[in-house]
Amino acid sequence: MKPEVLKKPKVIVFDMDGTLIESYLDFKELKKKMGFAEDSSVLEALDDVTDSEKKKKLWQQLDDFEVEGANRAILYEGVIEFLDFCDEMGFKRALLTRNSKKVTQMILGKFNLSFGLVLHRDNLEKPKPDPMGLDVISEFFQTNKDDIIFIGDHLHDLLTGISAGVRTFLYNNGNNDIKSWSEKADFVFEDYTSFKNLLEKTFKQV
Ligand SMILES: [Mg+2]
Repeated sequence: MKPEVLKKPKVIVFDMDGTLIESYLDFKELKKKMGFAEDSSVLEALDDVTDSEKKKKLWQQLDDFEVEGANRAILYEGVIEFLDFCDEMGFKRALLTRNSKKVTQMILGKFNLSFGLVLHRDNLEKPKPDPMGLDVISEFFQTNKDDIIFIGDHLHDLLTGISAGVRTFLYNNGNNDIKSWSEKADFVFEDYTSFKNLLEKTFKQV
């Protein structure tokens, strides 16, 4: 691990689904139902649909899928304590998700979570893996990229971090493809409690 990987950040950015909450979103199954290729990305594949009636139906299908996920969602263990730790340390917190405004607000309300900046696909022109979200966050908090840590669970998140030049930590939620993706991550962690303990120890030494 590079020594600067655990450098104290000013801002921590979180992905939502699969990172803060388990929403049981089976995108493989959804893509099959929507008639998209297994290796496609839903938002990008939707953009390419030209038949407007068909497009409308597919958007509705995605919306229903995400709302169902939000209704079922649970927080991962240790998330609240980790967010509190960020506040205690004076780190600003942001949320960067490919989910919709509606579902993001449902989740924030359901778990009583708040962030200094919330970016979703309805207020951000270019969703992940485009680096735009992290650029906007860096500008919003007037922070250099190397003072930001981005935490996510998916390849999209890693690619976003790499192209934005932001340290990206991969959360092993037990369902993601850690084996193939971990090489792209600056750091991989298994649970929020030991991650928090590690950071606490590291920052105290500095
Ligand atoms: Mg995710």
